[in-house]
Amino acid sequence: MRFVDALADLFLGAECTGCGEPVLGLCPACRASLGLGPLERDLSGLRVVSATSYQPPVTAIVKGFKDAQAWGLAAPLAEAMSHVLPAVADAVLVAVPSPGASVRSRGFDHTRALALHLGRLSSMPVRRLLRRPGVRVDQTELHRADRWANQLGRFSARGSGQQVVLVDDVVTTGATLVAAAGALEAVGHRVALAVTVASSQLWTTTPDMPDRKADRVADGG
Ligand SMILES: [Zn+2]
Repeated sequence: MRFVDALADLFLGAECTGCGEPVLGLCPACRASLGLGPLERDLSGLRVVSATSYQPPVTAIVKGFKDAQAWGLAAPLAEAMSHVLPAVADAVLVAVPSPGASVRSRGFDHTRALALHLGRLSSMPVRRLLRRPGVRVDQTELHRADRWANQLGRFSARGSGQQVVLVDDVVTTGATLVAAAGALEAVGHRVALAVTVASSQLWTTTPDMPDRKADRVADGG
């Protein structure tokens, strides 16, 4: 984008990402919608804490942040997470990486941006301990069970012995977070919990998800 276009967008086309109100940044109502939590879930032993529920206008805010590269939203989204993040001694923040292809197409690593802002707000170091080369099939085209299978083995972790707090934008089935935690634990990290901006209310239990520990044994670590 040219600088003059960026300026025009900034001063002439500014509207709330959540509802379209003509304001710069988020309008007060949409900002408040980020703080409906904390919502807590237990995904096969992984504690997940979320700032709010994944419903309008939060869906539009998160989508705008990811897809429209509304970088300025990283700060309010991270701030919402900071309000629900419990204190974890000697922990590091690890962003759940998006598939490499989607980061390249967006030109923006949105979960890392969230982790960096959250790290600043919570005085926690941010570490790149996870890699994710890419996902072969678009997740949205898969059934739930296939979605789980598609996630397995898609993360690789490095380092060892860290106490980790995972950071992601949205938890829906939880398959991504559980796979990321499994990869970290397989190399000797401890995952204390995961924190996300929003949690989908569609899934309150995860009955068809394999047990994390059984899965690690099956993987042979
Ligand atoms: Zn709004």
